[in-house]
This record gives sequence, C-alpha cells and structure tokens, in this order.
Amino acid sequence: MNSPDSSAGILTIDLAELKRNWQRLKSRLNSADCGAVIKAEAYGLGAGRAIVQLCQAGCTEFFVALIDEGVYLRKVLCDVGLKANIHILGGPMAAGQTLEEFNLIPVLNSLVDIAFWKEKHPQAPADIHIDTGMARLGLSPSEVEMLQKEPQRIKGLNISYVISHLACSEDFKTTMNADQLKSFHQALTLFPGCKASLANSSGIFLGDKYFFNLARPGAALYGINPTPGKPNPMGQVIRLQGKILQVREVNAPQTVGYGATHQIKGQGLIATVGVGYADGYPRSLSNRGFGFLGGVQVPIVGRVSMDLTTFDVSNVPEQLAHPGALIDLIGPIIPVDDVADAAGTIGYEILTSLGHRYQRIYKTIY
Ligand SMILES: *Cc1c(COP(=O)(O)O)cnc(C)c1O
Repeated sequence: MNSPDSSAGILTIDLAELKRNWQRLKSRLNSADCGAVIKAEAYGLGAGRAIVQLCQAGCTEFFVALIDEGVYLRKVLCDVGLKANIHILGGPMAAGQTLEEFNLIPVLNSLVDIAFWKEKHPQAPADIHIDTGMARLGLSPSEVEMLQKEPQRIKGLNISYVISHLACSEDFKTTMNADQLKSFHQALTLFPGCKASLANSSGIFLGDKYFFNLARPGAALYGINPTPGKPNPMGQVIRLQGKILQVREVNAPQTVGYGATHQIKGQGLIATVGVGYADGYPRSLSNRGFGFLGGVQVPIVGRVSMDLTTFDVSNVPEQLAHPGALIDLIGPIIPVDDVADAAGTIGYEILTSLGHRYQRIYKTIY
C-alpha cells in the first residue's frame, strides 16, 4: 500500500456506493436476480473487496473472465466464510479439474466445450452461452441449428443458466436489441425449464422483456452511466485525486511539456501533478482534459507525460494551489464518463486502466 506522501495520488473507492448501485439495479429487476460482473479486478477497483461487499449485500451470482480470477475469488470468499456462485465467462479451457476443485461454473461457449464438459464432468453445473449477435463467444447460429437436430448433445447436462450478451444495449433506438432478444428466445426453446440471463448494465434499462431470471451488470455497478445521453442513475464509486508536486509562474512566450504543444499567452500559474499515462491517466487528455481544484475547473495544458500532468491553475485562489494539494481528476464532480469522452474512449477503459501507484482507500461507511 502506497502512503499519501509517497504516491502519485489518492484513489478512493466507495464500497458503500458500490453496494447502493447494486441495490439500485436490483430494485429495477422485479423478481429477476441481480448478479455482478467483477472481471478484470472488478473493472480495476478490486475484485476481492467487491465480491465480499456484494455477497454481503445478497448477490449470489458473480461473473469473471478467467479461471485464475475465479480461483482467487473463491479463496477470498472461503477466507471470510462466504458462499456464492462464480461463473467463468471464458469457458472451461480444458481445466475441468481446477473448476471442480474450486467450485467454479464454466460458461460453455461451443459444442466442443459442451462435449468436453459432458464427458469429463457430467454432474458439475455449467452455463451455456448462445451467440445472438456478438460473434465473439458462444454457440454460433449453425451450432444452435445442430443442437436442434441433435438435442442429445445437451442431455444430462447440469445447466445453471443459458446466457447471451447484447451488442448495443446502450443504444435504445437500434433494432439490434429486439433482434437479439428474438434469437435468444428461439434458442431457449432447446432448453425447456432452464434459467436464462441476457441483460448487462444497459440491458436492465431496456425493459422487463430483457430481464429473464438474472441480469449481469458490470459497468453500472462502478458508476458508469448505463443510459448515455440521459442523467446517470448510478452513483460515482471512485474519486481520483492527483497530488501537486510544484506550482510555477509562467509567462509568454514559454511553452509547456513535450512537443511544446501549449503556448503560454500571458502571466499565469502551472501546477504539475504526479499522475501520468503510466497511471492510466490517458495521454489523449493532453490539452483536452481538466481537473478541479477548490471548485475551479483547471484545464490540462500541454501533453500528459508518463508520470506528470500540467494544469493551468491561474484562476484558482492562490492559497489553494500549492505542493501537496490535491486536484480532482475523476469522481463525483468529474464523472468517469466525462473523462472518457474527453479522452476519446469509454469509462470501462478508464477504470480498468487505473494504475497501481495510487494510495488506495476503501470506504465502507454507510
Ligand atoms: C463484461 C460482460 C458483462 C457486463 O457488461 P457491462 O456492460 O459492464 O454491464 C455481461 N456479460 C458478459 C458476457 C460480459 O462479457
């Protein structure tokens, strides 16, 4: 753990808000269950903390990408005496023994996966993923057709959920969602009596036709807006503050940073913060992004470099801009989606890129 004096800045992760976000989503789902996708370290925030918090809130279905992630999280849960189902989106990858040993549920993504699981682990639960429009993972349309002709291929399988994944759920106008819903319903006729799961975060906002038995939100739990273009119904979970290392007086015709991309126009003040692209603060924010100091918006001037970013703090009350002071970079006053917009990316990438040189503070006060 980095100390406040030796780190690039402070990353505060509000686990109470994470829990509230899960409850907010759950309250929209009528009788359907609300799971949680905590792959990639819970989108960078810390999967061990997230699983304990959400498990205590009543969540029982967790999804990760890799078997390694599942093994780690099973150990975390055992250590604190909690139980939950952990599903592996990436599939069994021939590692059946590990899956059974750590009580992990693989998502079977092909007929080959299904044959493998049926032969090696006939009793152990598994999910089946139907590809309805991503062409990424899951049974392809031709494999679904094959199943129609040869339903014995899934006979005897202990199916936990039949799942599919939406490609455009944040787009409320596209016909893609309804098309995928239709394909999913068609495929589900092959699995009578099985539980089903389709909606990711934004899918929860498409209406109850998309709920089935279980939703699998990720992004919205961590404060990313599942309804882009409309007010964010979720709370901000992270606050990232960068520490000022130096404040300097500048004047024309000085320039700032690599490539001399910012030209000083007159007398002013530049604050240099110890956070850069090596910390996941994107270089594409150069001359575009901004922070907040003392309630004043402070623009990034010049290029974001590896460990440093320069802000124009000329308009900030003088006593607030000093070495050791913290500039807000992401958080309640600068939502992660706004930072992503300025950087030309999505909130998912901002969160999963957050580096390891911050002092991390986990808040759990309700
Ligand atoms: C990542 C993922 C999710 C979660 O999606 P969000 O948009 O973050 O809510 C759900 N299902 C699958 C299959 C995923 O890969």
